[in-house]
Amino acid sequence: MPLQYLKGVGPRKAADLTKAGLNTVEDLLFRFPRRYEDRSRMQTIISLRPGMTAAVSGTVLNAGLAHTRRPGFRLFSALVQDASGQIQAVWPNQAFLKDVIKSQQRIVLFGKVEIWGSRGLQITDPEFEIVKEREPGTGSGEPEEQLHTGRIVPVYERTGSVTTNMQRRFVWQALNQLPDDGFDPLPDDILKRENWPSRKAALWATHFPTEQTSVDQLNAFMTPAQRRLVFEDFFVFQTGLALRRHEHAQVGKSLVSKVDDRIRQSARAVLPFKLTEGQREALADIVADMQRTWPMQRLLQGDVGAGKTIVALLAAIVAIENGYQVAFMAPTEILAEQHYRTIVKTLDLSRRSGAKADGKPYRVALLSGRVTAATRRDLLPAIERGEINLVVGTQALIQQHVKFKALALAVIDEQHRFGVLQRGTLAAKGSNPDVLVMTATPIPRTLALTECGDMEVSVIRGLPPGRQPIRTMVKADSRRDEVYAMIRDEVKRGRQVYVIYPLVEESEKIDLKAATAMCEQITRVFPEFAVALLHGRMKGDEKESVMHRFVAGQLHILVSTTVVEVGVDVPNATLMVVEHAERFGLSQLHQLRGRIGRGQHQSTCVLLYQAPWSDDARERLKAMAETSDGFVIAERDLQLRGPGDFFGTRQSGLPTLRAGDLMRDGDLLERAFEEARTRVEAGTLSPGLQAYVKSVWQRQFGLITVG
Ligand code: ADP
Ligand code: MG
Repeated sequence: MPLQYLKGVGPRKAADLTKAGLNTVEDLLFRFPRRYEDRSRMQTIISLRPGMTAAVSGTVLNAGLAHTRRPGFRLFSALVQDASGQIQAVWPNQAFLKDVIKSQQRIVLFGKVEIWGSRGLQITDPEFEIVKEREPGTGSGEPEEQLHTGRIVPVYERTGSVTTNMQRRFVWQALNQLPDDGFDPLPDDILKRENWPSRKAALWATHFPTEQTSVDQLNAFMTPAQRRLVFEDFFVFQTGLALRRHEHAQVGKSLVSKVDDRIRQSARAVLPFKLTEGQREALADIVADMQRTWPMQRLLQGDVGAGKTIVALLAAIVAIENGYQVAFMAPTEILAEQHYRTIVKTLDLSRRSGAKADGKPYRVALLSGRVTAATRRDLLPAIERGEINLVVGTQALIQQHVKFKALALAVIDEQHRFGVLQRGTLAAKGSNPDVLVMTATPIPRTLALTECGDMEVSVIRGLPPGRQPIRTMVKADSRRDEVYAMIRDEVKRGRQVYVIYPLVEESEKIDLKAATAMCEQITRVFPEFAVALLHGRMKGDEKESVMHRFVAGQLHILVSTTVVEVGVDVPNATLMVVEHAERFGLSQLHQLRGRIGRGQHQSTCVLLYQAPWSDDARERLKAMAETSDGFVIAERDLQLRGPGDFFGTRQSGLPTLRAGDLMRDGDLLERAFEEARTRVEAGTLSPGLQAYVKSVWQRQFGLITVG
């Protein structure tokens, strides 16, 4: 039912509520209190002390606007008396109260007690409620309920012109109109097992808890009623995702891969090393998906350096040996070019050992923004004719009009900002290819269950053998000389060094100047070393040439902004100095650090900070020094930043939850996921629930449809 049907919700309030995402009565009921205040225990006036926040109940002796000397300032005050004494209540700048609070009324006040000059105590700007006397002749005998005082009171976040008091009244009204036999999305067996209340009872107990409820438990959102509603929220959401996955499994794909000994042999021939256990398992998941009749949607998570590339490449070989094509996409040109080189090198090795089953070489093409128009003109038709087996590029590959003859697999590397909807465009590109998304930012499980809940997930835990752990130190900027000494030693040993400078978007120009100045300073300090600067504003070929020289070992020190963040692989680089480390996010620091420790030499990461730093920054750098496990870091990052910010700007394509909090309610989310999945897969979802989930998804998430 739309909110306008509630008494008191006019067009203006309705508009404000809509802006906050509240359209229906159900939305309103699922906007839970931010906290609860215990206003149930009335204090006697005589027991009040300055500083207390207290609830008192009494009779108004007199009330009116007080005269003040400040022009334009009006103070409404009322003298309230209970059996123990009297206290003055004052409300600044609320002259309209003269028509509300009147002598002889019974009133309940809730507010802060303060010293009032020499005259004793006053209670300032309290919440109040007039206690209505029973109207003669109404018969019910019940006094009208108190909503705002004299009970455990729910406090809502203000939405536009809708104050917390108004929300309380609206919710009250809505709850009173709820039918007893309303639909409950939670199946009976779950309710019984968990011993949870019905939906209506849970809503009542969450918005207007009984006096016996523990306020601490309420504020922790841990009462059975609250947990039940959070679970319901997760359950409906996860059922929607499960239906999507289920529906997706009904979508056919035109290019189904097969695996036989010949193909296994080709893949083995490519392998430069033995796969780790984690890599083997992930590959098995992927290849199993590729042999299914519906398109793969799989997220491959693995820490930086876990070795995701080779797994994707082996999957690519399976598709290619089946006669199909593969698109391999990276987020930046530098990375696309690096992938191209790695892939060519790896496949080239295999040629020497006699692979690709048909004896012909693999045809791999790079289609980046820097490819000349002439090359492009040759490449595009060759791709369309199916002569190119594997195309490497940025995501422009799918946005532009590149046509494939038989695109069976799309690999999307180093990506976590790639939401459901964008993946949809890819699926729409004709043949419904298998999609493998890889991310080096481990996504905490709770987030993966919501943000990526329509994808299957494989995780590569651990790193390939023989890696030395990176030493990480946090140093004040004032100890820069020590750091310069470290740089000198490292370069003298034949190693290479990254000096990273932050580039914050808002002040990109200023920062760029600072990075340039830093590069000049480093050049002055180390005149005997080759130093160069890399930043995002350089032209593609400049960037490429700097990167090339660094990869080739011609540069000793690379001063770079975060463009070097993702995926760049230079095993001889063993020292990283991060300037202004206090400005970086935790996951970003972890990504940066992943650029070193990639070879057999001991690597060191120095995080330089400049005071003053915030507590959060201190926490971040501490976490960096304590652990190098990306999954631990991701959880810490989630705790520090909260889920909303974890992905940076929210581009994930999936909406926020109504009631659940991923940090607090992770256990419920996990259970909801399992319940939803088993029910959808077993086909035991009731038609009523299915219809309800569908309507919630359509209402909340617009275009996305399920079931
Ligand atoms: P990421 O998962 O960060 O993309 P890469 O795929 O770039 O990691 O791999 C990091 C490095 O580890 C590469 O140099 C790669 O050749 C190497 N590598 C990957 N797997 C193994 C393995 N099983 N044994 C030894 N080295 C490996
Ligand atoms: Mg990588």
